[in-house]
Amino acid sequence: MMNFDFTPEQEMLRQTVRKFVDKEIMPYIKEWDERGEFDRNIFKRLAELNLMGVCIPEEYGGMGMDYNSLAIVCEELERGDTAFRTAVSVHTGLNSLTLLQWGTEEQKQKYLIPQARGEKIGAFGLTEPNAGSDVASIQTTAVRDGDDYILNGQKTWISLADIADHFLVFAYTDKSKKHRGISAFIVERTMPGFSSRPIKGKLGIRSGNTGELFFDNVRVPKENLLGEEGEGFKIAMSALDNGRFTVAAGAVGLIMACLEASVKYCHERKTFGKEIGRHQLVQQMIARMEAGLQISRLLVYKVGFLKNEGRRCTRETSLAKWIACDYANKAADDAVQIHGAYGYSNEYPVERYLRNSKAPVIYEGTREIHTIMQAEYVLGYRQDKPLRKTLPAWRPAEN
Ligand SMILES: Cc1cc2nc3c(=O)[nH]c(=O)nc-3n(C[C@H](O)[C@H](O)[C@H](O)COP(=O)(O)OP(=O)(O)OC[C@H]3O[C@@H](n4cnc5c(N)ncnc54)[C@H](O)[C@@H]3O)c2cc1C
Repeated sequence: MMNFDFTPEQEMLRQTVRKFVDKEIMPYIKEWDERGEFDRNIFKRLAELNLMGVCIPEEYGGMGMDYNSLAIVCEELERGDTAFRTAVSVHTGLNSLTLLQWGTEEQKQKYLIPQARGEKIGAFGLTEPNAGSDVASIQTTAVRDGDDYILNGQKTWISLADIADHFLVFAYTDKSKKHRGISAFIVERTMPGFSSRPIKGKLGIRSGNTGELFFDNVRVPKENLLGEEGEGFKIAMSALDNGRFTVAAGAVGLIMACLEASVKYCHERKTFGKEIGRHQLVQQMIARMEAGLQISRLLVYKVGFLKNEGRRCTRETSLAKWIACDYANKAADDAVQIHGAYGYSNEYPVERYLRNSKAPVIYEGTREIHTIMQAEYVLGYRQDKPLRKTLPAWRPAEN
């Protein structure tokens, strides 16, 4: 049986996040975006609302809700601004869920619980100046020294670089093994030799923090190796499964925001004696947004369903991320077009939507990488094999 209804708990969650966004983000976002400032208090407020670990099991400090509840949070947050959804994507999607999937019990106790409670913030450091899509080209190294590893290298374009307390960092422990020689580490900001620096001059997500990480002989205890030596590439890819799911869900929220603003403007603005919403070419843009919203939402919630079942869904996630982000980018472009010249100024939010809609088409797998992945699945050149550790299926709490 297929069920497309949300549960009362999910409906309540949506209302909670929507109210929060309307009250605590919408009135200030234009100013934050202009100033290029990330408001750390947002994390505090999200933690107070238990939203920093919404789908993390209660035993690990989360709310124990299902994976589609995380999608709902992302959708509603991005309706406010992409920066806050990006923060949750990185903290919960890329970091916390990866700890849940791959972490030892000690690592979950030490790092996952405070993250799920929102007491500590997590981030994800994979990209380097010379390695984005081509992950195996990373140059950061981790050399074993007694009970520690010594990390040296640099990461760039890291969301929450200057904010996060804990980072998942990917480094070569054995370069000769190519991608099978990459390992994953939990690095704390306070470890000597670690530093970060913000990236300025971004096109969008200006109220979010993005920066560079530097590792100068950072001594990381062997207990902070996530998974086994050489499993880093697989861990990074499975982390991206979770991150991409949240990015796709956020894109749905951005399309919602574009529709909201455009429908309002369609009724307000008149040309040639009628509301612009009465012109068929404007209606075409509205119809395209609606189609994008509905198609993307179905793809996202299907991934949530598969995650709830504990099934690997890299293929479905890649499709949802690619399609939803493309539709969001197009919706934002159409939203500016519908607003005419006013859409070109920050008097209306749609220019911010257009600027914000671009990064998700680039990060967590570019549009081109997902296009190739989908073709490879169809052509039989790629298939998803079982992983040594799987993300746990969702089990409703017993009352
Ligand atoms: C705002 C923002 C936040 C980010 N946050 C994070 C983060 O938190 N952590 C993190 O690790 N990274 C992060 N990133 C980095 C992001 O994941 C990378 O930018 C992305 O993976 C693409 O890598 P690249 O920029 O090096 O582009 P490249 O890989 O150099 O690609 C350049 C162009 O070539 C195309 N291309 C590359 N290979 C192929 C191919 N085989 N076939 C066809 N076309 C190809 C790409 O699609 C792209 O158009 C962030 C980026 C942005 C913009």
